[in-house]
Amino acid sequence: MARTATAIINLNAIKQNYLHSKSLAAPAKAIATIKANAYGHGAIEVANALTDVADAFGVACIEEAIELRDAGIKQPILLLEGFFTADELEYISENNLWCAIHNQHQLDALKAAKLKQPVNVWLKMDSGMHRLGFLPKEYADAWQQLSNLEQVASITHMSHFSSADDLSSPLTKKQTELFINTIGELPGEISIANSSAVLTKAVKGRNQWVRPGIIIYGSSPIDDDELASPLIPAMTFKAKVISQRTINKDESVGYNGLWTAEETTKIGTVSIGYADGYPRHAENGTPVFINGKKSQILGRVSMDMVMVDLSMFEQQDCIGFDVELWGDNISVNEVANCAETISYSLLCGLTRRVSKTYIK
Ligand SMILES: *Cc1c(COP(=O)(O)O)cnc(C)c1O
Repeated sequence: MARTATAIINLNAIKQNYLHSKSLAAPAKAIATIKANAYGHGAIEVANALTDVADAFGVACIEEAIELRDAGIKQPILLLEGFFTADELEYISENNLWCAIHNQHQLDALKAAKLKQPVNVWLKMDSGMHRLGFLPKEYADAWQQLSNLEQVASITHMSHFSSADDLSSPLTKKQTELFINTIGELPGEISIANSSAVLTKAVKGRNQWVRPGIIIYGSSPIDDDELASPLIPAMTFKAKVISQRTINKDESVGYNGLWTAEETTKIGTVSIGYADGYPRHAENGTPVFINGKKSQILGRVSMDMVMVDLSMFEQQDCIGFDVELWGDNISVNEVANCAETISYSLLCGLTRRVSKTYIK
């Protein structure tokens, strides 16, 4: 036996979720966003699982793209932030990487580059997120500069929503209008929708490319059962009960004794901690699923272990019981809420110590 801290990744769920996002956005094509090691699920495995269906992949940097090309992935790969240094351009041009251009620095570097193949550029507009992109008043000029370059094969218009997960925010509509109006008569395909905007169908009309990320992994960024229910959680994060004991009333549990028993209670210790990526901020009462029953964590999460309530198994030997931290029975969103974070951060946060098992 070995220590159990496992993520079981359901590749078929990922494929189904991708196809669901495409059906919501049809006839738009979809960039499967697999940056950050496919949100912790394994970029190569996810890309291989999607290779028959994905129109293109999206990553954050060239290192992530090279990993995919080295693994034989043939689809176009969009660098969502473009290049960071000009020496990346040679590889970009020779390996069919699509490249965001979000500022004049990048544009000047592209102008100065001698390339074997022209590059497909995704020209980014800052329509209100204020993170990356040309301002609307600079945008047409940036487009003109690019359209004159022999280094450029095509220009896609790109922007990003700041608040598409907040259905009450007026920003999504405002950003869409500013984006579309600023593009005006400029030719080229357009792309603005992330997962939230795909789920809510926020972009009508001109919308050739969507860029779903988190929904591919089966977590809805929007707290809405109807929108979330077609999504299948792709990751089941599991560990085991490794110890059990019964504690008395008024005895406390774990570092700093954050939880105290109000009556005699059977508790267990589980082989998972923050060094695996289980969040240290998960509060007392964060749900877990033990041997078919819902339970909860007790006290503070430590580096390699966490304690749980076993009072529902009073008469049983619980050593070796399976514990689901999140997956089909406990949604990663629920755990994220209990830890004041988001599912993205939990999924990306699994560490090297967690072994991954893939099922088709
Ligand atoms: C990460 C990312 C996405 C995907 O976002 P989700 O919320 O996971 O759908 C889309 N576009 C850009 C530019 C991104 O950085």
